[in-house]
Amino acid sequence: MSVAKKYQVGIGDKVDLSTWKTDDAEGVERAVVEAKTEENAMIIADLQHKLYAQHERSVLFVLQAMDAAGKDSTIRRVFGRVNPQGVQVKSFKRPTEDELAHDFLWRVHLHTPRRGHIALFNRSHYEDVLVARVDNLVPEARWQKRYESINGFEQALINGGTEIVKIYLHLSKDRQREKLEERLTDPTKNWKFEAGDLETRQKWDAYMHAYEDAISQCNAEHAQWHIVPTDRKWYRVWVVSEIVRATLEEIGPRFPEPKLDPMAAMKLLEQMNGG
Ligand code: ATP
Ligand code: MG
Repeated sequence: MSVAKKYQVGIGDKVDLSTWKTDDAEGVERAVVEAKTEENAMIIADLQHKLYAQHERSVLFVLQAMDAAGKDSTIRRVFGRVNPQGVQVKSFKRPTEDELAHDFLWRVHLHTPRRGHIALFNRSHYEDVLVARVDNLVPEARWQKRYESINGFEQALINGGTEIVKIYLHLSKDRQREKLEERLTDPTKNWKFEAGDLETRQKWDAYMHAYEDAISQCNAEHAQWHIVPTDRKWYRVWVVSEIVRATLEEIGPRFPEPKLDPMAAMKLLEQMNGG
């Protein structure tokens, strides 16, 4: 089975995160995998170039994780080679007053990818069934209905030609502790630390349940979840690069046919030069 498929959640499966690995690197050689990641990054850039040129399909990658799992570095390593013109990264923060005055998908829809583009969501509409649920930001009767709303919203995007790929970076609670400690001891990482990270960590189990429900209830053809072992950076980045590459290869973008006969246009150009 391909690496991309190995971590894909089967449609209809009820997810129990305790049975999914946070580290799966046994017997895998780091140097080999790092070379493959770099190769994948180049291939992804090439496929993105064709997707952009063809201007037909679009792809939305959703990245979700607990704090300090490494969403940012994953984006940097996997998409570091693509043309920035065709890829938009959107990081979803706490909603503004204006955003809260609308339905929860309002702010999200503004950032879905246009034809030929890739959008990367660093956090997403799933926060509205994660933090919103765990912290009781809205009553249960409201967040319970959101799974259905999310499925309808994603289906509308799929019907419009967007492929959706959802990735949960599965970090262990022990490893998160180490990463949070790094944020406190490494001066170049201090800026990333937030008191809120500790509060969220205290609610770890509630978050795991919320993730299990979100993944189980919102997992569909063309909008499938992947649960990626995240404790080791090099392994996580490689797996995500395999998933992204496989997604783009399946879409199979090609350079479009020229809009006019290139030879005829060349003749015209020569005549103009002569004239
Ligand atoms: P890092 O992992 O590097 O800390 P981050 O994604 O946590 O990056 P932050 O700016 O630290 O970025 O945090 C964003 C915060 O916004 C998170 O606490 C997240 O839960 C919160 N947030 C995002 N979307 C929503 C939402 N719809 N409702 C409430 N809170 C949200
Ligand atoms: Mg944070």
